[in-house]
Amino acid sequence: MGSIEENCASLRAQIATTEAQLANLKRDLARAESQAAANSENTAPAESAEEHSDLQSPWPLLQEEYKRYGRQMIVSQIGLPGQLKLRAAKVLLVGAGGLGCPAAQYLAGAGVGAIGMIDGDEVEVSNLHRQVLHRSYNVGKYKVDSAIETLKDLNPHVTYTPHRTHLTSDNAPTIFKDYDIILDCTDNPASRYLISDTAVLLGKPLVSASALRTEGQLVVLNNPPRPPRDPDGGPCYRCVFPKPPPADSVVSCADGGIIGPVVGTMGVLQALEAIKVITAPDADPQSETSSKRDPPVLHIFSAYSNPLFRTIRLRSRRPNCAVCSAAATISLDTIKSGSTDYVFFCGSATLPSLLRPDERLTPEEYREKHPEFTQSGAQKSLTTPHTIIDVRDEAQFGICHLENSVNVPISKILASTPAQGLGSDKTDQSTHPVAPWLPQNIAGQDSNDPIYVVCRLGNDSQIAVKKLKDMGLDRSGQRYIGDIRGGFRAWREQIDPQWPEY
Ligand SMILES: [Zn+2]
Repeated sequence: MGSIEENCASLRAQIATTEAQLANLKRDLARAESQAAANSENTAPAESAEEHSDLQSPWPLLQEEYKRYGRQMIVSQIGLPGQLKLRAAKVLLVGAGGLGCPAAQYLAGAGVGAIGMIDGDEVEVSNLHRQVLHRSYNVGKYKVDSAIETLKDLNPHVTYTPHRTHLTSDNAPTIFKDYDIILDCTDNPASRYLISDTAVLLGKPLVSASALRTEGQLVVLNNPPRPPRDPDGGPCYRCVFPKPPPADSVVSCADGGIIGPVVGTMGVLQALEAIKVITAPDADPQSETSSKRDPPVLHIFSAYSNPLFRTIRLRSRRPNCAVCSAAATISLDTIKSGSTDYVFFCGSATLPSLLRPDERLTPEEYREKHPEFTQSGAQKSLTTPHTIIDVRDEAQFGICHLENSVNVPISKILASTPAQGLGSDKTDQSTHPVAPWLPQNIAGQDSNDPIYVVCRLGNDSQIAVKKLKDMGLDRSGQRYIGDIRGGFRAWREQIDPQWPEY
């Protein structure tokens, strides 16, 4: 058994290595071919062939570039002037994940001259369903390196710059200053404010998008990128969202989930908006065109709604905005020095232990108490009666769950109103059950069997335990209610290595 698995692993590794070698060879060939094409078409010496503006040629683009970009150049909104603007443009994508991958792919394809990508993360298997530039053989590699490897295959004319680091207050201004336009392809509020503030203070337009589960948002900010205090500039992220969402309401794709094409749609739209900003006709401040500029809007995408998109008009810059108004208090200095503290501003959702130690059991402690659970987690029969409430949502429960556990999603528990003295007013309880989502033998009056609450990581389970106690289900301490510490992640580590990790 072991040797077969080893053999498979070895074959997989060989395939990955060979595929990587093949990718490198293809890239080298593409470069050599484009150089050869340029050499044969220009009488100029070979060393200037890579330079786009060959003085000897009457044409501003290489022959290969006319072919490559022809389909978009014949669209009137782009034309040759638009193509030349694209080639001169330097675009920075913050994040090489679900948004950054499709956005970068289309920008590279369109012939943007320079593309930078910043991301300190490495490729994980769970990224591959949506982060379309990464390949299975690049799991473990820096995302920016993996993405750029694929982009070079797509278009070798572009100059690519990897920034293998997480964005920080300290490095943001230094990295941003070399680019013309910024794409926010991140997934947390602290980064969004930092990116927007830095973009405003450095005078860069910003295309910001987000996606979670089945929904996405898209907005072009600081466009036109007038200096702070100029009310004619486009609104910034703070103008649209002056206050961050409550930290405990922020859900990541790892926790909330995401459908690949949803985030893909938003990333593609980011590329489109960036192309529109870059190729926009030059605005003359005196002319009518600048005053006729489209008003700022927020697009909201909802995969399971009809219509799929809604568009909300936004106000212009907010008169008291902390970064772009005359009342601004944020500057590049306050950002770099750390006195503008983004993590503090957005709060931290890292949940300290809400429960006392005696209200929590590790999976191993739970098994000691209830050995009827076999190694694989299958329950033979309840020798010691108790209830397991699994508070993950139905989709996760459907992926894997313990036999005989009861599924009550945390959202349902939190939506319940606290009990007014459950146990003291039996008549009231029978007509208005406090927890209608619990089987009567658990919620009912006669059972004091313990309740264990479990979730994916051990955070929601604590919240649920507190809420169940607030509702009076612990009968003033007569009944034990506690959570499984560390949730199913710990369950997999301590009890059942076959438990699916998702
Ligand atoms: Zn603002």
